[in-house]
Amino acid sequence: MIEVLRTIDGMRRWHRQASGTVGLVPTMGALHDGHLGLVQASKGQAGRTVVSVFVNPLQFGANEDLSAYPRTFDRDLELLKEAGADAVFYPSVEEMYPRGESLTRVTVGRMGQVLCGRARPIHFEGVATVVMKLLHIVQPDYAFFGEKDWQQLAVIRRMVDDMNVPVTVVGVPTVRESSGLALSSRNHYLTPPEHQLAASLSQALQAGRRRYEDGERSRDAIRQTIWNWLEEQGLEPEYVELVNPDTLETSPRLLDAPTVAAVAVRIGRARLIDNLMLGRK
Ligand code: AMP
Repeated sequence: MIEVLRTIDGMRRWHRQASGTVGLVPTMGALHDGHLGLVQASKGQAGRTVVSVFVNPLQFGANEDLSAYPRTFDRDLELLKEAGADAVFYPSVEEMYPRGESLTRVTVGRMGQVLCGRARPIHFEGVATVVMKLLHIVQPDYAFFGEKDWQQLAVIRRMVDDMNVPVTVVGVPTVRESSGLALSSRNHYLTPPEHQLAASLSQALQAGRRRYEDGERSRDAIRQTIWNWLEEQGLEPEYVELVNPDTLETSPRLLDAPTVAAVAVRIGRARLIDNLMLGRK
């Protein structure tokens, strides 16, 4: 039996009655197999699994897709029942932000300003703030985040370390279509030809990885390979970056330490991101 909890009080009451460890999977709904991979990871590690479904206004910029973001709660609930989640935390915006905008925010310094932070300057502050709230509300032992959103995972790990939050953050590998395209709720925005084109993100990253595996260690050279691949498909990358997986800092030469190659590209109405680890983490 899955329980749907719409209030913070109800969520806390559920937690008090739950025995054993609790895993939290934060989502914005419109669930797909990527999200369900996080649920499986939680079920493998924690006694009980709570999935939160909340489209967080704080992490959307003024010109972004907050109102258009897909909301499919009835279907999400069916998928979560099938996946064997124990509870869904599904609060309203008023429940999460009863006083309107939150005056207190969690900022993550330069880690929130690089990569996606350049085009979305308030995004990671919004993410860190809502995740901190969710961690306080649900009080899980484990929290599961997808590697698909590498910057988000790195930011949350750093926030939890910096603020001594008593939770173990677990990163879960990206779930992809057979074309290589990373599953994303924003893939809903793509027309069929755009959907096909979107596989170029992972193909470009694979091309970059091949250069790395052939021994190339110049950041600029690998960046250029990825950039050119995307441009040859007629795409205009927002960024292509190679960064340290933990600090998100760049350095001109990739030494033997692992590096994350990350890209963001706009295709039609969708802004898509993807990343790939070069070297073993
Ligand atoms: P979202 O609902 O897009 O905010 O995503 C909720 C969580 O699911 C985040 O931790 C994402 O990184 C993760 N996620 C989204 N897509 C994927 C995917 N294709 N593979 C693995 N995790 C994913």
